[in-house]
Amino acid sequence: MASPLSKKGSNDKKKSSSNDLQPGVTTRNVARKAKIQTRAMSTNLKPSSSLLAAKKKALQKKRTNFEVELRDHFQNAMDSKNVEKGQVELVLEKRMLEHLCLWDPNYPECPERLSSIIDRCNELDLIRRCVLSEICMATKEDVSKLHSPSVYDLLLTTHKSDNTDYLESISAKYDAVYIHPSSHELSLMAAGSTVKIVEDVIRGKAGSGMALVRPPGHHAMTAEPCGYCFYNNVGLAAQHALTELKLSRILIVDWDVHHGQATQQMFYDDPRVVYFSIHRYEHGSFWPNLRQSNFNYVGTGNGTGYNFNVPLNQIKMQDSDYIAIWHQLLLPMALEFQPQLILVSAGYDAALGCPEFSPELVLCSAGYDSALGDEKGEMEISPACYAHLTHMLMGVTGTMVVVLEGGYCLASLAESAALTLRTLLGDPVPPLRSFTPPSESIQETILNCIYVHKPYWNCFNYQPTYSMDTTVLNVSDVTKEKHIVEVKWLGDEERPETFATRNCYPIQPQKFLDDVNRKLSQLKITTDLFVPQHRVCYVYDEAMLKHKNVHESDHPERPERISRIHTRLQEFKLLDRMRKLESRIATDEELELGHTSSLLSWLRSTATCSNQSLANQQEKYDSVYLHNDTFLSASVAVGSVLQVVDAVLGGEAGSGVCIVRPPGHHASEDLPCGFCLFNNVGVAAKYAMSLHSLKRILILDWDVHHGNGTQSMFINDPRVLYISLHRYDHGTFFPSSTEGNYTQVGESSGRGFNVNIPWNKRGMGDKEYLAAFTQIVLPIAYEFNPELVLVSAGFDACIGDPLGGCKVSPECYGRLTHWLMGLARGKLLLCLEGGYNVRSISYAMAMCTKALLGDPVTHNYESRSPPHSSAVESINDVIGVHKQYWKNLRFQKALPKENVLPAPAPSREGLNIVSMKIEDVRFPTSIGGHGSDALHTDPNYSCAYVTIETDGGKVGYGLTFTLGRGTEIVVLACKSLKQFIIGKNAVDIFKDFGSFWRVLTSDSQMRWVGPEKGVMHLAVAAVINALWDLWGRVENKPVWRLLADLTPEEVVSLIDFRYITDVVTPEEALKMLKEKEAGKQQRIKTLLDDGYPAYTTQVGWMGYPDNLVKALTKKYISMGFDSFKIKVGVNPEDDYRRCKVVREAIGNNRNLMVDANQAWDVDTAISCMKKLAEFKPMWIEEPTSPDDVLGHAKIAKALRPFGIGVATGEMCCNRVMFKQFMQADALEFLQIDSARIGGINEILSVYLMAHKLKVKVCPHAGGVGLCEMVQHLQMWDYVSLSGTMQDRLIEYVDQQHEHFVTPTVVENARYRAPKTPGYSTEFLADSVQKFVYPHGTEWQRMFKEGVFPYPVED
Ligand SMILES: [Zn+2]
Ligand SMILES: [Zn+2]
Repeated sequence: MASPLSKKGSNDKKKSSSNDLQPGVTTRNVARKAKIQTRAMSTNLKPSSSLLAAKKKALQKKRTNFEVELRDHFQNAMDSKNVEKGQVELVLEKRMLEHLCLWDPNYPECPERLSSIIDRCNELDLIRRCVLSEICMATKEDVSKLHSPSVYDLLLTTHKSDNTDYLESISAKYDAVYIHPSSHELSLMAAGSTVKIVEDVIRGKAGSGMALVRPPGHHAMTAEPCGYCFYNNVGLAAQHALTELKLSRILIVDWDVHHGQATQQMFYDDPRVVYFSIHRYEHGSFWPNLRQSNFNYVGTGNGTGYNFNVPLNQIKMQDSDYIAIWHQLLLPMALEFQPQLILVSAGYDAALGCPEFSPELVLCSAGYDSALGDEKGEMEISPACYAHLTHMLMGVTGTMVVVLEGGYCLASLAESAALTLRTLLGDPVPPLRSFTPPSESIQETILNCIYVHKPYWNCFNYQPTYSMDTTVLNVSDVTKEKHIVEVKWLGDEERPETFATRNCYPIQPQKFLDDVNRKLSQLKITTDLFVPQHRVCYVYDEAMLKHKNVHESDHPERPERISRIHTRLQEFKLLDRMRKLESRIATDEELELGHTSSLLSWLRSTATCSNQSLANQQEKYDSVYLHNDTFLSASVAVGSVLQVVDAVLGGEAGSGVCIVRPPGHHASEDLPCGFCLFNNVGVAAKYAMSLHSLKRILILDWDVHHGNGTQSMFINDPRVLYISLHRYDHGTFFPSSTEGNYTQVGESSGRGFNVNIPWNKRGMGDKEYLAAFTQIVLPIAYEFNPELVLVSAGFDACIGDPLGGCKVSPECYGRLTHWLMGLARGKLLLCLEGGYNVRSISYAMAMCTKALLGDPVTHNYESRSPPHSSAVESINDVIGVHKQYWKNLRFQKALPKENVLPAPAPSREGLNIVSMKIEDVRFPTSIGGHGSDALHTDPNYSCAYVTIETDGGKVGYGLTFTLGRGTEIVVLACKSLKQFIIGKNAVDIFKDFGSFWRVLTSDSQMRWVGPEKGVMHLAVAAVINALWDLWGRVENKPVWRLLADLTPEEVVSLIDFRYITDVVTPEEALKMLKEKEAGKQQRIKTLLDDGYPAYTTQVGWMGYPDNLVKALTKKYISMGFDSFKIKVGVNPEDDYRRCKVVREAIGNNRNLMVDANQAWDVDTAISCMKKLAEFKPMWIEEPTSPDDVLGHAKIAKALRPFGIGVATGEMCCNRVMFKQFMQADALEFLQIDSARIGGINEILSVYLMAHKLKVKVCPHAGGVGLCEMVQHLQMWDYVSLSGTMQDRLIEYVDQQHEHFVTPTVVENARYRAPKTPGYSTEFLADSVQKFVYPHGTEWQRMFKEGVFPYPVED
């Protein structure tokens, strides 16, 4: 109804309706006129202003391409024509009952969990109605997509094992895990079958699915089984759907009462997966006791905003608490996200009676038998609530797979899981128990979640804001409705060495169990699981076509409205799927339930009036026309609706569709109005109350006009909740009365039971209607808990309607219908009211009907932009007045404008170190003499290669350099350090790295084989390097940058100052570092732009002939090098000749360095070097034994007059030796080696001493991986300590880089600053596989070909 149609100005009416109201026709006419006008213009005729206006209008219409757009708008509806509800696939495999705890018969994760579900499903005859899924085993490769292969390898060792002690000992390594001989196989089966069912659903073989699998999965981390879980079933299925099935939006809803920390970890940075978890938390004191389970962990990187944690900080949460989470958080987000698949991690341990197993609780408690399992353990979610949670999600997308996780109270578990399956099958959703208001605690949690997610989602913009700035006056200061956002933490993150494997769960006292069982069986009896004979019925009668406007044949309220709907339902083959009811004429008594007898008799009298008399009479009313058959049609309309009421309340049908006219909602007790004569829905409500004794009826009126008639009929009746969404336009939209405003909340005892949601602007669409539903309609309706839902289903807010000016899509109406079916056990009547574009209304009614029939609703709309600001305002106004009546609306509290939360603490999650692998990797460099020098004539560049892995799948790689033989000893030494590493959380190590370093180097027994020197210390370097690589990767930074970003205090905390405080104290170190804080950023930039200078050792290895040396020197000059080092020390003549060759080649302006590699005695060194002085070497490197401090001092002193410096360090064994070298003035150039002394931590202390004593550091890098590592350290020195590159060079040797994942890059003789996270220490897997000694494929080949001898056997 719109004002042009009101009784005054009925002459204009015709014109306006043909020009404006029927866009299809109008467009063409106006366009044609415009075309004529264009021709007229070309003949220089002045166009009339009205024609110009018409032309402009036509152009506008053309621009919006109205007709095409219309066709597109109905495309979704047309496409869904043949999309019917698919079958429900079920994973059910009796073998999954085999997995049980052999040493503890009372273990809660027991086979009865599954068997009790199966029994209950059979009782309800659900399994027969499903298709059984093919049982699939995941392969090692499958599970390796998210898990470390080590998990598979470990479980394989338990396969069919009859050694119970072994099984228990392995189990004890993990938190809350038991391993059975069948666990290996069954966990692969659970994972494989979950992947399979998801695949079937996505490929359309089934509509939805449920996987009843054991063992569960959501705690299974990348490299560590945890909390009864081995492989992450849901995580693997999601990963499969992303990579193999090419989905791009997956929603994982985890309603298990424990946080699925593993699933969170796996997708934490992935914006394709929203992980939404509701879990008991109690500020961290509930298992798994992680900071990361809190609301402020919202994801990282591209995935920021895509991780939702809804922590429950209180026990005994009720259905209404969970429902509120759905309405306030999950549904709005899910609608905006529009997932292609919903995976539910369906644990039922929040269900009533579940003992809430919490292993941590046991470990902390000495006398657990009495302390545990008291009644305060549990949440109190009723089984029926799970049906609602499922049903509401199905309204987001029907493409849904529910996967069993936890749940330990067998009775509630079985009932809850069965009701979930029943809901997937499409049975009516059982009503919930009586309403309890959402708790204070959940209000706090929900508002916290909204606060942290507001920046990432448009759907969370209903709360007002306040400023933390106290000088700003906030409205909420006055109203005191301010929400304080804060993070509380009461948890403890320590990890025990081993975990309890027995009795590690609460035992519920018998009295409690009895109580729970009584409650549950009570619920089982009272829960309404009635299934009606027919799912949906409908009524339609051609008698209702008779009423028509004979004076105005194009009046919008015309008979085709219902005939077209009827045809459309037929075309969609929906009529065959519904029970057809006979129509009937409403009796006078029935009509008088809602209307006065005078209205009745007057309308009856019109049946025999002349046309003229009818015309005169209708003028008395607002927008009403009369016909001799009006009374008949109107009585049949009411009677038909009553037929449907009887069928639905009598159990013949679940819900009903009333294809009726004339419409009714404007008709009041005694007054027809706005095309309406009798109020069909109003009479139906009165009828249901008086004849069926109903006490609570919801009338939902989504006609674009306010149902003023209906409102007036129930304005003071608390039994009828009237909710209307309509255009209001500040009171100017038909029926143009302030009665339609949000301020009309009902009268006397009916206060609060009248809810008007007024739109003040045109153009409202799906987003606004969906928002009104999640914010207002559903919360209020769930609290009201109606016994019957009557929908005044006008479709004049639908796109294309000539009167409404809104743009709701037909599918959106289908979706709204779906959600309303969650109420009143699905007893819902759709009664046609307005709607004047017959295409729009026929598609809209078809989509609603399909929703009633359980077909999936395909709804695509632009969801990422915010709802209309005017709609947000309206919604807030409604909540503002109604929150005093409805406790479900208690979320309207002001949130801070500013960011008030500290950055999340470093995450310990997933950083427990679970494995350390050491490999002996050797490259056959002795072939060809690369790397050869005076003492090391045939080196095979090698290393002990350490790989550290955490439970979250983070990996660090480290190495220490060796020359081949003997590497196996270093490998053994590394292994002996394992005991200090495994089981530690990496965050604990990093946060006190200095102390940890001492643990590694000063073990009271092991230090005898050191201390801090030799093989043991090489091993320390390898392990420490791996930890640094891990740290860099965790922080997502290259190590040089990680170091540069640490504060001076943090750097100092990395270092063990024992034995060196006579040269440098922590305080001095701090001072030196602080001095260089200024200019740091500029130096970082310089480094990134220019890199760091390098020198080459590549031209003069001892084994190289002169002509090769000459050629190489030329080559490296052309590459930009200006410093060259050659090997000396075999015999003086050769040294002389080689120096001469190089010096001649490089000229006098480039640097020559020589390296004797410890070949000489002290005096020999002096005399040999004097002979080479004419070539002006910059330094002599390692002239004698690396331990001879005084010898070096003597050499240095003797050569100083010749301008030759002494350089050493690559074999210096620790910081103490370095200290002495510097104290004795024994070196000018300090050659730190990255794979020696105790790794980075100790090296930093040497840098600090060198800086203080003004010794230049020029790192050694001749070996595998040394360039890769040492560049980071020298760059840190430039940025944070020395602040200069003057006279400093990093050695560069162009060998073995090809084996690294991120090799060193040297361009123009400068090291480029590494950009990838970590320490650049990771080998290519292929290289390891080839060169691991002695089993690598290359070594095996070389042994066979006789290039190298086979290693000697033990
Ligand atoms: Zn659980
Ligand atoms: Zn209407």
